[in-house]
Amino acid sequence: MVTATTIKALATRLDKAEQLVADGAVFPVAGCDGYAVVRNGDGTQMYLVRIAAGHENCSCPDFQQRQKAAGLPCKHLLAAQIVAAGETPQPPAPAATVDPVKLETARALGIMAPARAA
Ligand SMILES: [Zn+2]
Repeated sequence: MVTATTIKALATRLDKAEQLVADGAVFPVAGCDGYAVVRNGDGTQMYLVRIAAGHENCSCPDFQQRQKAAGLPCKHLLAAQIVAAGETPQPPAPAATVDPVKLETARALGIMAPARAA
């Protein structure tokens, strides 16, 4: 049974993982689907993370010495999973269509500021 202590620790770890993602610390490995390199919090180390379900791994000491045996993810693995999940391509936003005649009319009427010369 997972205890409240474990869940609290995981919640804290998830916060740290989200911070790593926000800091741009997760890098895909070109040519190796399912792997990522994650920079540690102070930027002094890089860890190799395998994301593939059932084969999750991280080369950091926390995962190797504690989390792996407990079947829990380290913050690097969580960060890589967050990025991998976000990689599903988003459909492009439809381009705004502007009728040039209406645009010029709006500018002529002073409704819109005139186009600025670049
Ligand atoms: Zn790790």
